[in-house]
Amino acid sequence: MSVSIVSRKSWGAKPWNGAPAAVPLSKRTEFFIHYDGGNPINYTGVKVPQAIQRSHLAQGWAGVGYNFVIDQDGTIYEGRGWTLQGAHCPEHNVSGIGVQIAIGGDQKPSDKALAAARALYDEACRKTGRTLAKKGHKDGFATACPGKHLYEWVKAGMPAPKGAESEKPKPPTPKPVSKIVALNPAVKPGATHKQVRELQQLLVKAGYGPIKGAYTDFYGPETQRAVARFHDRNPAYRSGLHDPKIGPKGFVALQKKAGHR
Ligand SMILES: [Zn+2]
Repeated sequence: MSVSIVSRKSWGAKPWNGAPAAVPLSKRTEFFIHYDGGNPINYTGVKVPQAIQRSHLAQGWAGVGYNFVIDQDGTIYEGRGWTLQGAHCPEHNVSGIGVQIAIGGDQKPSDKALAAARALYDEACRKTGRTLAKKGHKDGFATACPGKHLYEWVKAGMPAPKGAESEKPKPPTPKPVSKIVALNPAVKPGATHKQVRELQQLLVKAGYGPIKGAYTDFYGPETQRAVARFHDRNPAYRSGLHDPKIGPKGFVALQKKAGHR
């Protein structure tokens, strides 16, 4: 799954205040999840990275300190991106890619946000060619971040939410294949045909036996008597008393009586 990321330019980022150092992907070994802090975030969209930018610039940083920010709609915004050193967790800013999910306090992350974060993690592993360690901010620094819900999610292995999975198209359920077959017109009293064997088996199975000498390909007198018994008990399919000719409709009805569907 490829991830789509809203670039700094697209969300209206200000120029960097100074120049964050470049970090090659080969130095990345960890993936850190953060939240916004003690207060819930009740908005989504470009306001999210813009608010973080304001706060981080006010701290004298170069701009948004996270590599990426994800809002509750599951939209991913570029901060330091894949190539620049972050400012999100002391001693882990080179090794760690820092991602903020924009919630705070006891706020629960949405499935969309978690799905986006997981997709971003998978993309990070793909780009670096290694399995990055899954971490919450508090794994690298004494802090409440990323809060109860996100930390539990990180510890559970950052599972993609079930809701997101069920949105994938399901494979179509195969229709049951009917076992009912048509009567070959060559199957009639006195004839020899391989379907006669099947007719005899159906007659016996449905309770119109016995058929002496069965099973054969020959539609002989024994078979005809069994067919006549079927017709006498199911007059709707006969064309005369003791009808020895099964007929197409009778053959289908016989299969159903033998339990075929
Ligand atoms: Zn944090």
